[in-house]
This record gives sequence, C-alpha cells and structure tokens, in this order.
Amino acid sequence: MIDLRSDTVTKPSQEMREMMAQAEVGDDVFVEDPTVNELERYGAELFGFEAAIYCSSGTQTNQIALNIHSGPGKEVICHEDAHIYKYEGGGLMRNTGSSVRLLRGERGMMTAEEIEEWINPDNVHLPVTAVISIEDTFNRGGGAVYDFEEIKKIKKLAEKHNLPLHNDGARVFNALAENGIDPKTYGAQFDSISVCLSKGLGAPVGSLLLGNKEFIHQARRVRKAFGGGMRQAGIIAAGGLYALKNNVVRTKEDHVLAKKLGEVISKKDWALEVFPIETNIVVVKVENVEATLSKLEENGILGIAFGKSLIRFVTHLDVDAGIINQFEDLKI
Ligand SMILES: *Cc1c(COP(=O)(O)O)cnc(C)c1O
Repeated sequence: MIDLRSDTVTKPSQEMREMMAQAEVGDDVFVEDPTVNELERYGAELFGFEAAIYCSSGTQTNQIALNIHSGPGKEVICHEDAHIYKYEGGGLMRNTGSSVRLLRGERGMMTAEEIEEWINPDNVHLPVTAVISIEDTFNRGGGAVYDFEEIKKIKKLAEKHNLPLHNDGARVFNALAENGIDPKTYGAQFDSISVCLSKGLGAPVGSLLLGNKEFIHQARRVRKAFGGGMRQAGIIAAGGLYALKNNVVRTKEDHVLAKKLGEVISKKDWALEVFPIETNIVVVKVENVEATLSKLEENGILGIAFGKSLIRFVTHLDVDAGIINQFEDLKI
C-alpha cells in the first residue's frame, strides 16, 4: 500500500529508533528529562526563541498557545478554514471559552488589511480581540505558503494594536523550504509558533511550542492542566530531536515529488482538476470522492477525502519516486 493520506503516517526509521532506545530520560513534569530539555533548547534556538515546550500533539501546542493568548470574552482572529478552528474538536471554545472571528481568503491567506478591519475597538458590545493566528503552510489551502512580506505586514499590524501573533506551523519546514527565509528571521515575526515533529519530519510523536521564557512558563502550567504533562518523555522526544537534526534538509524532495505526482494525476480522466501545488500536498477535484478513493485503494493507493469532490494526497519521508510509476500505470 502506498499511503498518501497524510504526512503523519510515516514510521520511525531504524536509526531514529536507535536514538530513541538509547535516549537518556528523567521526569519531564519536573523538567528533568535531559532529552526533552535538549529538544526544547534545540528547537527554540533554531527559530531564535528563548524557550520551547514539548507536547503530545500539534493540537495541544495550538490549544495551549491560544489558551494563554485568548480567554472567555476574548477573540481569536483566524481564517475560516484554519486547523485551530476547524480540526481541533472545537477546542478553542471548549478549553478556552474564546470567541473567533473567521476571515476568508484565497488558499487560507489573510492580509494585514483584511485583518485590521476586524480588530475590535474598545466597546462593551464587542469581544476583546486578543490574538491573530495564521497557519503556514495552510493545510486546507493545499499546502499554500504565506508570502513573507505579508507576514511582516501582519506582524507590524499586530504590534500596532499590541496583539500577539501566533503561527500554527505544523508544516513550517515546508514553508521555509519554499520561501527560503532563515528560520530565525522567520521566527522573529511571531510571539508563538507550533511546530509538528510528527508530520514531514517523520518523528512518531509530538510538537514543540516556541515562545519567550514567560510564555513557556505559563505553557507548562496549561499543559499540566490539559493533562499533557509527560514523565520519561525523552523516549519519544529523541525521535523529534533526530528528526529536527536529520530530516529538515530533505523537505524539498517531498515538494518535487508532489509536483511530479500532480502532473501525472492531471492527465487522468478521473481528475477534473489538480489545484496548484506549492509544497507536499496535492488536492484533486473528482466526480465522486468515495468511488475514486475505493478504486485507488483496490490499486494499492490511499488518499483521503478532503471535502466535497476533493481528494488529498500528501508526499512524505516514507514514499519515493516509485509512486510516480504506480500512478502512471494506474487505470481506473
Ligand atoms: C496536523 C496539523 C496540526 C496538529 O495536528 P496533531 O494531529 O494534533 O498533531 C495542526 N495544524 C495543522 C495545520 C496541521 O496540519
């Protein structure tokens, strides 16, 4: 089976498993796990942040960040298709009691100009605008990459209104592989970034939340309250550390493969349209999602339903150019 449902399906390599097996561990709730501490230090430094916290998932890092930035009676500004709103089980409302202002925009992109309109003035009728949250790359936008110039404008706007800027950077390395921006320059635009280690990087578990010392201190408290304090987490953190050190450099390969895949798919009768491919996500419009997916599965290929008439394929560490031949030969 070629599994292209998500870049989360990767399995740890032998070398990664060895690092995990040998990891030094301690109790991370006591901040005494040397491997977790090393992962947090490494991740924070990479993006020029003061501190980081290792969490069980990208949903958890986003939820913790927004719990700190927002609250009851307050409001998060994000895109209507943002993961933090659409795919986190209503967590923003459930965990934080926060209101949301949902903006529209092509392929998940919001502009500073559009955002400014929705920053509420001080008026008792209105929720208090608390944070702006972007997502780079944007999943529902087919892995679209934010224009870095626009990010800088959004940051300026956030500063002007004294608002924090959060980035759901589950696939931030896919963005950086395309925009060519140095991680520290990029990191300087944000007050917090959530970074997934278990997507294209191939670690089995976990995400990092980056922020300043005070923010991460608060995040430790929130993580505990959300039931996310882990003990000898160095076992899994070692996979994340290995991933950061070894697998970031190859991210671009996934993008090259995704583009090739898109070209092959666009010649197929069942593909009504292939959306622009910027990173590792290929979104294809089809007549009948269910029927196409099951025919693909009969031919050893897994994709995932991505809304009405859309199928998503994601390239990752565990697939190679062999998938191109498989798609070329495919007759469904
Ligand atoms: C995968 C993903 C997350 C986090 O997902 P988890 O499965 O909770 O790790 C967050 N944001 C985006 C955009 C994602 O694609």
